[in-house]
Amino acid sequence: MIYTGQCHCGKLTASFDTEKTPEALGVRTCQCAFCRAHGAVNISDPNGLTTIDGALEDVRRYTFALRTADFLLCNNCGVYIAAVMGEGDKIVSTLNVVGLRMKEFLDRDEAPMEYGAETTEKRIARRFEKWTPTRFTNPELAVANFGPQEIKASA
Ligand SMILES: [Zn+2]
Repeated sequence: MIYTGQCHCGKLTASFDTEKTPEALGVRTCQCAFCRAHGAVNISDPNGLTTIDGALEDVRRYTFALRTADFLLCNNCGVYIAAVMGEGDKIVSTLNVVGLRMKEFLDRDEAPMEYGAETTEKRIARRFEKWTPTRFTNPELAVANFGPQEIKASA
């Protein structure tokens, strides 16, 4: 099943291909200050595929703390749509179903997640294990910088 969503203005879109039902997949709420400021609710499926589409000038990247992921926001409407990590053919992401207004995943029981105590290495390993393999339809987005150099070397 393919679920789709878009930011408020529609310049950024995402599709999420998964064999799991929304019930089986579940939704998570990261407890970090950034995610709570956006009211983000996230989904991912390591066996699925996410496709993100948008023009380079419409994507704003934000990174903070350990700088192990890029948080993608619409440069036009400001909505946070996804966090991404990796590069080339090894990009993974988690989608914010609230920002993308993916109605099938809204108003579900949320699992609060606390990742604050993770080391950098554990955080990267968890994301590669749990997040969704991801491609960008616009190759300009895929070759942009994702995280610090040491992550690229070990990814
Ligand atoms: Zn937008």
